[in-house]
This record gives sequence, C-alpha cells and structure tokens, in this order.
Amino acid sequence: MTDPAARVCLLNPGPVTLTETVRKAMLGPDICHREPVFSDLMNRIRNQLREVYAEESTAYSAVLTTGSGTSAVEAMLGTLVPHDQRALVCCNGVYGERMANMLLLQQKEPLVLKGEWTAPLDIDAIEKMLKQNPEISHVVVVHHETTTGRLNDLDAVGALCHRYETPMLVDAVSSFGGADLPLKRWNVQACAGTANKCLHSVPGISFTLVETARLETQQSHSHSLYLDLITNHNAQCSGFPAFTPAIQTLYALEQALVELAEEGGWFARSESYRQRTELLLKQIPERVKTLLDEGHSQILTAFNLPDDIPFDDLYDHLRADGFVIYAGQKQLMDKIFRLSVMGDLRNDDFQRLHQSLSRSALSSPTRTGH
Ligand SMILES: *Cc1c(COP(=O)(O)O)cnc(C)c1O
Repeated sequence: MTDPAARVCLLNPGPVTLTETVRKAMLGPDICHREPVFSDLMNRIRNQLREVYAEESTAYSAVLTTGSGTSAVEAMLGTLVPHDQRALVCCNGVYGERMANMLLLQQKEPLVLKGEWTAPLDIDAIEKMLKQNPEISHVVVVHHETTTGRLNDLDAVGALCHRYETPMLVDAVSSFGGADLPLKRWNVQACAGTANKCLHSVPGISFTLVETARLETQQSHSHSLYLDLITNHNAQCSGFPAFTPAIQTLYALEQALVELAEEGGWFARSESYRQRTELLLKQIPERVKTLLDEGHSQILTAFNLPDDIPFDDLYDHLRADGFVIYAGQKQLMDKIFRLSVMGDLRNDDFQRLHQSLSRSALSSPTRTGH
C-alpha cells in the first residue's frame, strides 16, 4: 500500500512540486482586489516578472492574466496580430500547432510552416517565407516545445526577425524562468509565460511580457474582452486589475519569484536543471533512448518507450513509488514518456527515482512472449 502522506514528485512539465513556503503563502489574508494592499502586491509581481530577465526587459511590461498558460498565449496572439496581415507560425509540436489554431479561430489566416515534430525549425524555410511574403506581421514560435523537449533555436530565428524587421511572438510557457530569453536580441515583441512551470508556483496565473511602446501607442486587435492585453495593461497600470484575480495564487507567485531570485535567478535555475537532467540521463537504463538526438532542453527529456512496456504500466510502477511521469501527446502518445526536472526536486528524490527505475520494467531484459 502506498502511504497517502508520502512525498509525491511531479515529473510532468507543470504543475510542479512546490516548496512548503510557496504552498503556505496561499494561506495569506483575505483581501479585496480594490484595496491598496492588493495594488502593491500586483505591482511587485509585475516588476519581479520583468526583473527575471532584467537586462533585456527594460522596454517591456508584464500583463497578468488569470488563467493557465494557454490564456496568456491566446491573449498575446489576439491582441497583437492584426487581421489584415499574416503571422508566420513555425511549428514542430503540439504547442506551435495550437497557436496556428488560435489564429484561425480569431479569423486571422496565419501562414503555417509545419515541420516534423522531431526536427529542428527549418531556418532556411522561415527566411524564404519572410522574403516572399512582405505582409508577414510577426514570426510566431514556441521557445521550449514541450511536446518533444526541444529548445528551439531562437538565436537563428531572432537574427531573421532583425534582418527582416519582423517582430517575434514567443510561447515561453515552459521556459520562462528556466532558460535564457534575450528579448531584445531576438526582436521579441511579446512572450507568454505561466506561474506553474519553471517559476515553480501554483497554476492559475499567467502573464505576457510585451514591449511597453506597443501597448501604449497602438491599438488592440483583440475580439476578446477578457483576454485583451491593452485594457488589462491599462487597468493594471492604474493599480487595479480589470477583473477579479486569483489572489491566493498571486501570494504563491510572489513567494516563488522571491525564491527564484534567492536561488540566483534564471541562470542558476537553468544550471540546476542541467545538473538534474545529467543525473536523470545516467539513471535511465541504456536500452532506453532519448527521442531527440540533439537539441533537447535541460528542462524536459522525452524517451522512447520500449515496445514491450505499456505507458500505463510504467506510470503505475513509478506512481506507487511517488513519481508522476508524463505520456506523449497525439501521434507520440504510446511512443514516448517524458520526464521534467522542474519544481522543488531534491537529491534524495533522485536517489529514490533511481531505485524505482532500476526496479521497473525499463531495467529488466526484454521479455519475449507471455
Ligand atoms: C504547458 C504549455 C502550454 C499550455 O499551458 P497550460 O497552462 O496548460 O494552459 C503552452 N505552451 C507550452 C510550450 C507549454 O509547455
């Protein structure tokens, strides 16, 4: 029997294992979002979010959205992509394709470059599209494609965005706080992030960093009232949010941002992810290969599931030992499993994981027949 009070580690890519201090922060006082005390909290968080990439973000403002990461992505595309121009969406996974879908639903016909999920973005194809289609308003990309664990090469895309003077819109939902995000260097107009992935807080709040000048000088293209970044920005700058925010989750987010800063910021966190991933790769039995040969992030690794092991069996085995692993999505559903190293994971968790893995079907020789 598993002890219900035993520690459970989430190795899925968000929500993450929380620190006790972040969890307890949610027990803060009952306040109204029209009180100055809320205003102060919101202002601190908006500043802290910008400070995560302080050197690159002086010209940006953080706009908070109550909702999961998808709401921030949808708000970003809805507000910033005009109807009479076309966004170029570069896809190599679920989340890129989801952004193309969002634009279609917003009746903004995107140009879509659909690549293989296991392949890097095709930089030459992006350049060709930019050359041939001067009506492209934005290049839309996912930074860390959680589908496969690839960290897309936004240095290369960013160079094109400068050369063709086309701003970039980034889904940074699974990288914000855990990988470098040089906004200016990549000509990023906006990027969307969330509280409950690399920032190690609870789900409920997401946000967009947007060039302040874009928010202040141009109109919104949003057909959504709730997800319009410009009205939300104006309201948040006045000190009060346009709608009722998830107040308790903001207590948690502030604490998580303090803990990120204490740890040494995004760079220190990405270093600790790198070390954890290195450890993890050593613990995975040799017959289990990574899905990607190169280009995978330090945040999440996708592994090919051996033919003789159903995902559910592996999940159940690890779950009984206190670890939650993540399946593949869509066409990768029964083909891979994914392990993320986000969250409050400690050395002894990795020791227990090692023991669990070595007792799992992954470590036993291939069984033939029944
Ligand atoms: C998790 C994720 C999202 C969606 O986030 P939700 O919080 O589930 O809405 C979007 N993009 C990427 C790259 C993600 O990893």
